[in-house]
Amino acid sequence: MATTIIIPRKDWKPKDVVKGMEHPGKSVKRVAGGWIHDLCASRKVICLCTSCTHKFNPGRLGYIREKDFPVVQAKCDGCNTFDSRATAYFFEETYYQVRSTPAERRRNTEKSLLNLKREGTLSLGQTIRKG
Ligand SMILES: [Zn+2]
Repeated sequence: MATTIIIPRKDWKPKDVVKGMEHPGKSVKRVAGGWIHDLCASRKVICLCTSCTHKFNPGRLGYIREKDFPVVQAKCDGCNTFDSRATAYFFEETYYQVRSTPAERRRNTEKSLLNLKREGTLSLGQTIRKG
């Protein structure tokens, strides 16, 4: 087996590396629906502009709409236009593995408050504003 030595031609900055990892998106000849179904099959995040959002049924494909950040700035996966008010959809199983829900954050805050009360650093009458 031959050994390959790769010599970089230029100084790669982190911005260049991230840009290189970015997918070029849907080709011009491709139908948007088929492209989005391929993204769904590989469980990628789907960003749709305001005019393409109504064409996508997230529940049927096991996707969920991002509720903490209802608006994202992204290039639409359906029509390839940049939209500053796009909507992001996540594969439901991946979403709950990666993101914390408001109920989880609330539960963690209550747990830490209970620990503070047990340790005695927080008096019983004292309250901390929940964020
Ligand atoms: Zn669109």
